[in-house]
Amino acid sequence: MAKNPNRNRVGVPQVTDEQIAAMANTGVSDVSTDLSVAERAGADDKVAAVAAEGAKPRVPTYTPEARAWMDKDPYGLKTEGIYGQRGRFAVLPEAIQQRAQFLGRPLMVADMEELHGADPTAPTESVKCTTCGKVVTSFVRTAMITDEGDLRRDQDGNVTYRGQAVITGKPLARHAAHTGDCLYKLRNARGKKKDLPNGRQVADLLPSQSFAQANERLAGIEGHFAEKANEKQAMQNRLGFNTARTSGGRTDDGIDRGSFAPKTPRGQSRRQPRNWNENSN
Ligand SMILES: [Zn+2]
Repeated sequence: MAKNPNRNRVGVPQVTDEQIAAMANTGVSDVSTDLSVAERAGADDKVAAVAAEGAKPRVPTYTPEARAWMDKDPYGLKTEGIYGQRGRFAVLPEAIQQRAQFLGRPLMVADMEELHGADPTAPTESVKCTTCGKVVTSFVRTAMITDEGDLRRDQDGNVTYRGQAVITGKPLARHAAHTGDCLYKLRNARGKKKDLPNGRQVADLLPSQSFAQANERLAGIEGHFAEKANEKQAMQNRLGFNTARTSGGRTDDGIDRGSFAPKTPRGQSRRQPRNWNENSN
């Protein structure tokens, strides 16, 4: 049987040496190259060595200023269900501790606000809550902390943020809601359920993101649909089913007659008479 180099004998995906080198250089990781996955597999000495090298002496989690910031909690970090998931916090205390260990120093106020704070990408004009219709006056956004303590990032290295914007509706658009119940209802707009591995059924919530990321997501989805439509059109053209009413005077016979070309296929009348026809009768 051929051996899959990405699998060890218990079938756990392993990180490759290249991935380890890339992580060591950038400090960036994602789910697929998560060191903890390799550690659980426990079959690669190089991974263990890298992990040991990365281990730093334990540091306090907060500077005194950051501790005061936490006590004041200006952005609701200690608010349960802030993003709508009941009983859930935006970030767990253990993850914040891990963040300080990852940086090798106590977290400063700036670190805390990078992790959880005002969403600088939210619009400055007033935004209405899709759920309750009242104006939302401020928006928060929260980074996610990986098992190692780094902030979760996209493939370009930008921190990915949860927030109060949700892409949903028909037509698809960017919506927003107050934290807590309003956001829960917005994220649950589809009313879909999903099964957890333990057999429990829970609401399958839509992602709630920072405004910048929601906008990006919307553009991405729209781009995807546009691409699909273009693909379909190109295929139709190649097959000779040219059904598009393109501007530029092309008729259904494919001959360009400029702006004088009839806009309807030959032998067919327009469905609606022109207004001046109606008036002259
Ligand atoms: Zn609301």
